[in-house]
Amino acid sequence: MNEETDMTALEDAARRLAPLLGDRVLAPDAAAYRETAALAFGTGTPALIARPRDAEEVAAVVRTAAETGAPFAVRGGGHSYAAVSSIEGGLVLDTRLMDAVRIDPGSRRGVAGGGTLAGRFTAAAAEHRLAVGFGDTTTVGITGLALGGGIGFLSRRDGLTLDNVLGATVVLADGNVVRADAGENAELFWALRGGGGNFGVVTELELRLTPTDAVTSGFLIFEPRAETVSALLEAAATAPDELSLMVNVMKAPPVPFLPAERRGTPIVVAVVCHSGRLDEADAVLAPFRAAGSLLADTVHAQPYPALLRAEEPGLHASIRTGFGGGLTLERAQAAIDLVARARSELAVVNMRPMGGAIGRVPAAATAFAHRSSPVMLSVVAVDRADAAGAAEWTGEAAVAAGLGEGPRYVNFIGEAVADAAGDAYPQPTLDRLRRVKRAFDPGNLFRSNINVEP
Ligand SMILES: Cc1cc2nc3c(=O)[nH]c(=O)nc-3n(C[C@H](O)[C@H](O)[C@H](O)COP(=O)(O)OP(=O)(O)OC[C@H]3O[C@@H](n4cnc5c(N)ncnc54)[C@H](O)[C@@H]3O)c2cc1C
Repeated sequence: MNEETDMTALEDAARRLAPLLGDRVLAPDAAAYRETAALAFGTGTPALIARPRDAEEVAAVVRTAAETGAPFAVRGGGHSYAAVSSIEGGLVLDTRLMDAVRIDPGSRRGVAGGGTLAGRFTAAAAEHRLAVGFGDTTTVGITGLALGGGIGFLSRRDGLTLDNVLGATVVLADGNVVRADAGENAELFWALRGGGGNFGVVTELELRLTPTDAVTSGFLIFEPRAETVSALLEAAATAPDELSLMVNVMKAPPVPFLPAERRGTPIVVAVVCHSGRLDEADAVLAPFRAAGSLLADTVHAQPYPALLRAEEPGLHASIRTGFGGGLTLERAQAAIDLVARARSELAVVNMRPMGGAIGRVPAAATAFAHRSSPVMLSVVAVDRADAAGAAEWTGEAAVAAGLGEGPRYVNFIGEAVADAAGDAYPQPTLDRLRRVKRAFDPGNLFRSNINVEP
């Protein structure tokens, strides 16, 4: 398609959608356009944004995209690192007006609109002392996160977010609305759990909830020593499932619990969350506290929703990711040295121990197959002004951390380059995803994502 045919397609799409959605179709001259188009990392420059409120309206937008041939993307919270949920000069289906949340404490299930953000769902579930783990950020969309994986502060206890998806309502490429769960459209249900936005628009997600009240959580901040990184990962390997954590080698942020002269210098941080009995937390955390020379310990009992933070807008991020066993001593030292040299305000080597409930799911049970990896490893740089500098640093840090050609976590892929899906999925998973794609989206309407080509 060229620019002229795109333009005609978009004019056609605008004409079709206006009578249906009224002021919920936004062109760049609309007052709310800028704010609505913005992504976590970027402005977003679609020609049209359609904001449906239910599955029927979503079906109309999907049919319009298919029939006009307008370049098309689907968005939720807009936190894709690869910025695939917007499309320059195209039509964006924005799911965020579908954010109703119903919690049923009796069956411990929650049903949420496909555009619900993690903070909203977490707060609604917490009113009933229930939770499902998302990531660490309130502003991430629960569907975008769940379709790729969802690793966070409850994952070793309850599994990834996708392991807690019980069913979904999906608008397919032909506009039909279907249910996908273990009994109905089971192959589609398999593909949705790890295969990303390739198969349709999720308008409703049903999630399993687990009793969760106060958790013991906070930061254990250490002097930057390679041995501390190793000791923390070793302790994680034998910790009970109730402990989920991240280990970061990063620059000290400007926080009141660290001396001012430490700011900007490397530290090792364990971000811990013990979601078992409060009176057992100290014993579980003892080997972590003993992992090195502590600079600060902010761990205390707090409500689970307090752990999730909003992402600050207006930043540039660069990320590289993979799986492995964590860092060797030599690599941990290289990471500390690299963090010391980073120019970006936030430069992190992030390790997320897996295992626990994540590791007990058979690799072929969902399209997230990396079940036996002990650690998810990522390097991230975030900058206000210098996107190129951030990318340069993550490139160097990826080499130092040993992030080679191995598989990547689809939600942390930073560029939707050709064959990005080949990096995200082992071959048997990719082959099966392709078969599902051919059955449900043979024309590849849903291609602005980490694309599984039919
Ligand atoms: C600051 C930050 C922190 C993060 N922390 C974590 C973390 O702790 N753990 C973790 O696992 N991940 C984390 N992520 C990654 C996050 O899971 C992915 O970026 C996820 O795709 C974001 O979903 P979204 O809806 O916000 O993004 P969007 O950019 O809106 O969407 C991303 C993809 O999902 C698809 N999609 C979204 N909604 C729908 C829908 N309703 N139907 C069909 N397809 C849909 C889109 O088409 C797109 O391909 C983080 C990302 C950021 C930026």
